[in-house]
Amino acid sequence: MSYRGRFAPSPTGHLHFGSLVAALGSWLCARHAGGQWLLRVEDIDPPREQPGAAASILAALPAFGLVADTSPLFQSQRIPAYDAAFEQLRSAGLIFPCRCSRHDLSLATGLHREGRCVAKPAPGRSPAWRMRVPDAEVSFDDALQGPQRQNLHESAGDFVIKRVEGFYSYQLACVVDDAWQGITDVVRGHDLLDSTPKQIWLQRCLGLPTPTYRHLPLALDESGNKLSKSARAYPVDPAQPLPALHQALAFLDIAVPSDIQDVDALLAQALMSFDPAFLPHCSGRSAA
Ligand code: GLU
Repeated sequence: MSYRGRFAPSPTGHLHFGSLVAALGSWLCARHAGGQWLLRVEDIDPPREQPGAAASILAALPAFGLVADTSPLFQSQRIPAYDAAFEQLRSAGLIFPCRCSRHDLSLATGLHREGRCVAKPAPGRSPAWRMRVPDAEVSFDDALQGPQRQNLHESAGDFVIKRVEGFYSYQLACVVDDAWQGITDVVRGHDLLDSTPKQIWLQRCLGLPTPTYRHLPLALDESGNKLSKSARAYPVDPAQPLPALHQALAFLDIAVPSDIQDVDALLAQALMSFDPAFLPHCSGRSAA
């Protein structure tokens, strides 16, 4: 199957340095493989969204030379597909409604591992829906970070796939859409490494293929914390794309002459010296 990569921002703020690194890393891997690069706007969490953020991110990417091969997929338009996956899981007995509050869980271990709801009956309270996870290891080879394994029962517990408010979780929507878009290779930040075993488990339960994963180092601020879009940290300026692009290439250890003053020429040069095997393997590094 030919390579299909993607960048899947959540519209919680403008493009910032950390998301530019993820966009650039996924674009370089796709172009290096002679494959396609797709966009997906993960707009299924209205309380966390910022008005105008999706449009701002979509307008910024071409300014950085990152042009997708198809028009973007908006998750807010994909609810029927998530409903169908939800029904598939429900009829297979793999999910259960749960009214346990965070407080209920904190009295135990903080994680839900019962495979069923243990809250006291509370009429009128809507349930969340949780995935019943096995006491078994999910392992995969991250193309950058090496072999990974996680026991879902121990580290994730019965994770939520549909929230009390009725919103589908990132995990479910991501898995359904990676398959729908035919994604063969996921390149994203290291903060999502922990989500990957849950996504692989969901893929197995839904009969969907598992892509190759490559988790890039996370861009950290001077205190060692993740640069966060929602905290409006380190925005990048699409009107002056070159400084941020040079910085993002340096972050990914891609050597380019520092005097290139044209976005497309810079990306063409980066692509010539790019080899995914030489991307940095660490979990995070300073953005400065
Ligand atoms: N929407 C997620 C974010 O902006 C990324 C999802 C993914 O790449 O799987 O952090």
